Amino acid sequence: MGIVKNALYKVSKKGFLSTFKKQSIFPYYHLVRDNQVPHIENLYEFKNSKQFLNDINVLTANYKPISPNDLLENKKLENNFLISFDDGLEEIYSVIYPILKKNNLTAIFFINPNFVDNNEGLYKHYISIIISHLKKNNFEKSVVDQISQILSIEYTTIEEFKQKFINIKFSEREKVNEILELLTIEIKTFLKEHKPYVTKEQIQEMINDGFYFGGHTMTHPPLNQLTHEEQKKEIINSIDWLKENFKIDYSFFAFPFSDKSISKKLLNELFEYDNTIRIFGNSGLKKDIDKRIIQRFSLENPTKQVEKQIVTENLYKFFNKFIGKYNIKR
Ligand SMILES: [Zn+2]
Repeated sequence: MGIVKNALYKVSKKGFLSTFKKQSIFPYYHLVRDNQVPHIENLYEFKNSKQFLNDINVLTANYKPISPNDLLENKKLENNFLISFDDGLEEIYSVIYPILKKNNLTAIFFINPNFVDNNEGLYKHYISIIISHLKKNNFEKSVVDQISQILSIEYTTIEEFKQKFINIKFSEREKVNEILELLTIEIKTFLKEHKPYVTKEQIQEMINDGFYFGGHTMTHPPLNQLTHEEQKKEIINSIDWLKENFKIDYSFFAFPFSDKSISKKLLNELFEYDNTIRIFGNSGLKKDIDKRIIQRFSLENPTKQVEKQIVTENLYKFFNKFIGKYNIKR
């Protein structure tokens, strides 16, 4: 949360939620889990199953659930919600799927085909694994210095080192493998043992049970660091992969990291690819250039109250309207 949003969160009240019912909301998460895991713990916080169940209860008490199919059929939205989950982590199958099923809810899961079946993982997750490894050895200075040299970064505090490491460029991700080798971390073994991502069988089972899947690019790159053609390929290949492997006929896609830098040209090409595509962003309660682009906000932060968070997003919407940033320009 930024400075403005944090200030708005402080003044927001749970009770305001009833005034923000005449709208449809699209909250998103990555995972729900009751303990920490090395590949996530240094990147962001997430909710446990009890907190997630509370979110579900608050959402269903205030908004009516819709199916992703309702979006494809252009059903009129009034006071609805639909949740989605990015990155195809295994918890969508082991934790989230049973909870949603029990509550008669469906959802969209956005996945990166390269990571399905755990042969390969997201470079940011690898960085978190490395930081957890370093933490065990109290960030031994000689080792941290060696890594900083590989990454060509300078640091004064461990916190600064971590931030710079987490935010390295996509083009430098090969260096992460170099560091894994240096620390003799067997990443293939980690992937086989921990299975951080869903498998094809699990996806098939969830599809058979009425859940929806969408692309999230093949390898989860920050798209603004790729050429136009590379962006397009990463996106369309991930949607095609789902169609080829699971015989689904719809196109859903969510942007990795952020949709801020996405050009009008790219969006138009995606509409040409499939004019019924539904594209999901994470810019909050904002209006995009086309009705087929659906903007979401995160409810992942476990330290925030869900009611107050939804109120905050609405107050932020008014703030954006006031400063002329409600309508997204591409
Ligand atoms: Zn993602």
